[in-house]
Amino acid sequence: MGLWKNFLLTLRQYFKSSQITRLFTALIFVLLLILTTLSSSFSFTPQPKIHPLPPALSNWQDKTNSGDYFDQIKPIQVGYFVWSQFPIKCYVKLPNIDNRKSQNWLNTVVNTIIEWNPYLPLVLVNKQEDADIVILQQTPPLQKQPGRPPRARSAETRYQIYTTDDDLLSHRFSILLSPSLTGEQLKASVRHEFGHALGIWGHSNLVTDALYYSQVRNPPPISPRDINTLKRIYQQPTSFGWRIGKST
Ligand SMILES: [Zn+2]
Repeated sequence: MGLWKNFLLTLRQYFKSSQITRLFTALIFVLLLILTTLSSSFSFTPQPKIHPLPPALSNWQDKTNSGDYFDQIKPIQVGYFVWSQFPIKCYVKLPNIDNRKSQNWLNTVVNTIIEWNPYLPLVLVNKQEDADIVILQQTPPLQKQPGRPPRARSAETRYQIYTTDDDLLSHRFSILLSPSLTGEQLKASVRHEFGHALGIWGHSNLVTDALYYSQVRNPPPISPRDINTLKRIYQQPTSFGWRIGKST
């Protein structure tokens, strides 16, 4: 009886309460709604499946038999980073420096990403918002390391997951290249970071691979091991590129 009385009192109190209190209650309700929507969208992640192997990778045969570093590749929660809509749309942003220098920078970057084109078809687009992979001249943020001073990096590749207009789970990559990168080091960084954006989400332990974990004095070209690894990644199941389940 006492409890019931208390409840009625609380209810009466609520309707008497100030506008701020009501606003606060409404806010909590909206927050709960957002959280519920978010958690339900995760539970409808598409079942991981294998995409058809792109023809160029399917035709790729390594005559040198040099193996791969597939065991170093880490899938994220929704699977391997595999592109399934071709050509992959790339946008290279012209930096805000003097004209000649900025044009040279752009040419170097474009000529280097084209090195990957024989394995996965690429196209350059004119608008950043249309691109799957965006390349910018921008200093990457300092890398935080537990118990150590933050470390400066010359390049960084980051991803973003989103749903396309036709409900496919998709991803976008941004590659940040420090303005300090020039010449061979710029080419090596673009080659390396672009490999990450194509799906090689890990590093090689061999100095002769483009995806070697550290910068080297004489950067190597894309190696058969890089392509063997890429080919294996594209044979793995992933949720990327498949339709999101919808609640009814
Ligand atoms: Zn790397």
